[in-house]
Amino acid sequence: MSPEEFRKALQKFGYDLSDKQMKQFEVYFEFLIATNENVNLTAITDKKDVYLKHFYDSVTPLLETPTYFADSASICDVGAGAGFPSLPIKILRPDLKITIVDALSKRITFLNELVAKLNLTDIALIHDRAETFGNKRSEYRGQFDVVTARAVARLSVLSELCIPLAKIDGYFIALKAANSETELSEGEEAISVLGGKVIENRQFELPVDGDIRNLIVVNKTRQTPNKYPRKPGTPNKEPIG
Ligand code: SAM
Repeated sequence: MSPEEFRKALQKFGYDLSDKQMKQFEVYFEFLIATNENVNLTAITDKKDVYLKHFYDSVTPLLETPTYFADSASICDVGAGAGFPSLPIKILRPDLKITIVDALSKRITFLNELVAKLNLTDIALIHDRAETFGNKRSEYRGQFDVVTARAVARLSVLSELCIPLAKIDGYFIALKAANSETELSEGEEAISVLGGKVIENRQFELPVDGDIRNLIVVNKTRQTPNKYPRKPGTPNKEPIG
């Protein structure tokens, strides 16, 4: 998908990107590719692929599940890596307040430079593990309207990293490729134990090659028990359920 195809695809959903926003995506692409020479950020480097598989894919929660993104909502993106999905979301919706937490300091360094280049405001970039960032002593626990994550862990593990960070009545949205049904059935018990309830599993196709994507939306209905998230590494080693 070329930048112009990207612009046209978003128009179908009512997003008419300004020249400034188009330029922000261009600068994002160039800085991603340049930094990727020295710091491992992405295996996807072809321009058309970056626009489709990183930029378009990242904004699909705004396109396919817009009702969860209220005006000025606070978003926490767990394991954003090179900024996906939350920075493309921020370019489309400058009103949103973004917090990124990632365990790799080189990626946070990249993001700090990128955010300055893109002139984005209301963004906090935090080097931490989600297990400590969301634990019972953390000021961030239970603070966010929406928690997002893409390509970080399978749902049973990811739920323990993400649900503690959401407010009561907030949402956790997992961006998944195909086969989300299996992950959902494996993750159901964890989601329930952590205080969540699956309210939507939205399946759709990406433009151009028709790849299947899923957005799993969890509503946090109860407080997460204090013992979760467990210490770093434990959610992955011993998933709930
Ligand atoms: N979300 C990005 C994307 O879709 O391109 C990055 C995906 S990358 C495969 C996974 C990222 O999650 C890495 O940057 C890694 O450092 C981060 N990560 C993995 N486990 C984490 C944890 N427990 N806490 C915080 N970050 C974590």
